[in-house]
Amino acid sequence: MKNPQTAQWQAMSRDHHLAPFSDYQQLSDVGPRIIVKGDGVYVWDSEGNKILDGMAGLWCAAIGYGRHELAEAASKQMKELPFYNTFFMTAHPPVLELAKVIAEIAPKGLNHVFFTGSGSEGNDTMLRLVRHYWATKGQPDKQAIIGRINGYHGSTVAGAALGGMAGMHAQGGTLPGIVHIPQPYWFGEGGDMSPDEFGIWAAEQLEAKILEVGVDKVAAFIAEPIQGAGGVIVPPKTYWPKVREILAKYDILFVADEVICGFGRTGEWFGSDYYGNSPDLMTIAKGLTSGYVPMGGLVVSDKVFEVISQAGDFNHGFTYSGHPVAAAVALENIRILREEKIIERVREETGPYLQERLATLADHPLVGEVRGVGMLGAIELVKDKASRKRYEGQGAGMICRGHCFNNGLVMRAVGDTMIIAPPLVISKAEIDELVSKARLCLDLTLEQLHSQA
Ligand SMILES: *Cc1c(COP(=O)(O)O)cnc(C)c1O
Repeated sequence: MKNPQTAQWQAMSRDHHLAPFSDYQQLSDVGPRIIVKGDGVYVWDSEGNKILDGMAGLWCAAIGYGRHELAEAASKQMKELPFYNTFFMTAHPPVLELAKVIAEIAPKGLNHVFFTGSGSEGNDTMLRLVRHYWATKGQPDKQAIIGRINGYHGSTVAGAALGGMAGMHAQGGTLPGIVHIPQPYWFGEGGDMSPDEFGIWAAEQLEAKILEVGVDKVAAFIAEPIQGAGGVIVPPKTYWPKVREILAKYDILFVADEVICGFGRTGEWFGSDYYGNSPDLMTIAKGLTSGYVPMGGLVVSDKVFEVISQAGDFNHGFTYSGHPVAAAVALENIRILREEKIIERVREETGPYLQERLATLADHPLVGEVRGVGMLGAIELVKDKASRKRYEGQGAGMICRGHCFNNGLVMRAVGDTMIIAPPLVISKAEIDELVSKARLCLDLTLEQLHSQA
């Protein structure tokens, strides 16, 4: 190591820091990479390595790193009014202005915002609010919520339970009344069906589950437009139209978890716009502030609002709901997204370019499929392209991730699926760099897998 401070920081990690989603023994043995700086689409580690951040932090840094306007907005708000709550008949200008702006950009009819500190809290809020909604309508038995296996909705108890990650369920992350259906993951689970057939089959699982639980017991269905943490799972094109048809038939609420897809990642403001879906509620976070400060929320339709606004107190809220500094930063972030036409550029120019360049990796012997939308992409690593057979038990994804980090690129591994979600401001030249680094790392991974065999 070139920098003596790196070892000191790693010792602090080992001795005191409980990092999220980490194996503490492994983290202690290897030591975390210490990220010290960011600018544009790049981050730097404490050893001075410059790394192209293909994950925008954690799907967050939509406008990229180092935008001083956001720092200025935070600083100005901190000097003016660093904190005030929005409980008990009070408010402040930033939270009100932000609620109005979100209503402007959200799909039609979604005009009311409950602010939280994170996406998980947004989904907790959703769970309580939809049950409150049905109770108010005189249907208190409508309590069940249908999620999807391998969906991700956060790490609070409700978030983990709504999500479909077995490892999280096994560690206290379950709640009564939350059930799951299969995901529309054709590459992994489509078997002999065509993608279109499989999309219909996966949508029909929703109807089967509604009927199994009972229409009079189901409150809502929650789904990400495109599953993010599950492996950038882009559903077959038949999936959402069929789901919409089923939802229209039964009296249940549709919740879009837009924490990743929201704020431009698909080239539209929301993933629901991209697919033409009309959710009743929408969870937001991440791109809302580009991750510069924590903030999340739940956007609520007029239909739901009209019911709950006649129901007395909603006994729910967080100290930091609508935090003025976070709201000021979110407002500035959205101003930049709008004024610099960043989302239009993703839709018309850089998104299609990224997809076209990523698709060139499909000829690589290790690659079974490349898919994506806008600034989301996935690369499936396989042993055999035709049968979609994996390098079973060889950790191909983690090997690839390691090579990426060592060659100046962040790509995340979800099993043997490599995923990317770069900042929305990535340029064409930076996309070229990302894809050529990815190809190099695929070569190195294949080499290592063969030498291990
Ligand atoms: C990250 C994420 C969440 C949870 O957000 P936190 O801010 O980590 O609580 C919820 N849903 C989706 C789709 C996410 O990607």
